[in-house]
Amino acid sequence: QAEKDGLSGIRYFDTAVLDELTRELHIEKELQEALTDFSFDLNFQPQYDAKEQKLRGIEALVRWKGQDGIPISPLEFIPIAEKNGSMVSIGGWVVEESIRTFSIWKKKYDLNLILSINISSGQYREDGFTERLLGILKKYGINPEELELEVTESVLFEDFRTAVEKMSVLKDYGIRIALDDFGTGYSSLSYLKGLPVNTLKIDKELTDGILKDLNTGIMTESVIAMAKKMGFETIAEGVETKEQLIRLKELGCDYIQGYLLGRPMSGEDIEQLLK
Ligand code: C2E
Ligand code: MG
Ligand code: MG
Ligand code: MG
Repeated sequence: QAEKDGLSGIRYFDTAVLDELTRELHIEKELQEALTDFSFDLNFQPQYDAKEQKLRGIEALVRWKGQDGIPISPLEFIPIAEKNGSMVSIGGWVVEESIRTFSIWKKKYDLNLILSINISSGQYREDGFTERLLGILKKYGINPEELELEVTESVLFEDFRTAVEKMSVLKDYGIRIALDDFGTGYSSLSYLKGLPVNTLKIDKELTDGILKDLNTGIMTESVIAMAKKMGFETIAEGVETKEQLIRLKELGCDYIQGYLLGRPMSGEDIEQLLK
């Protein structure tokens, strides 16, 4: 098309790319407004023991609706917020709000559970992250041992040593660390050795393929076996069928999270479950 119009250098006019850019700009603009009145929300998804299906903890997941009231997935807006620097304040809100809410439930229902919070790499790298976190825990009376931070391996990319040192400090305080989405991306086995993390979260991609694809099955089996020997706990993400649950249990996976046992839900709904 463009060639015909004589636009040299541009070989074709890709409307999909333009649509994507327009959407990104739109989200960026709405995010800025959302930041002033903090129109974010939290959902919570339960994590269960694979054997007895006892509640282990809950993962806080951020929710956001655009001005038209249509939810925008964190998978879409978080990368944009990371790029323009607003993820640090959104993430800061998630941390305080989820700990505050968790502390209310803890007192009300005398809970002994873990609160999992996803931490973006920009947020993790911020100076004073650990100190602020410890301050918030203290403010709401939550023990460091009750908190698990979910980070992806992307926190390790920029400056591996500094990132690991930070993990060690967090771990020394008793805060738990989970490596999220494990088994995708570059997940190399060599860096895992000696990493101060408590938990490996086996990505949904592995869970999905566990019974469908021979190699994925082999990989998941190996990851769980290795994690066990290295002393990491394992949580499988995105478990949707009973067959997957049975297989994961056979392989020795410790915990299960997914639509089969519980979807992400509002605070009111999770309270019904905690009662
Ligand atoms: P994640 O931490 O790996 O969370 C799991 C995602 O899978 C969640 O999507 C959850 O709703 C979804 N999920 C759970 N079980 C199932 C299942 O059985 N089937 C299917 N199809 N999906 C399932 P969600 O809430 O859209 O979040 C996507 C990602 O966005 C998260 O992946 C996490 O990386 C990021 N995220 C979400 N909330 C936060 C947050 O508060 N802070 C940061 N930094 N990242 C967040
Ligand atoms: Mg997570
Ligand atoms: Mg995950
Ligand atoms: Mg995932």
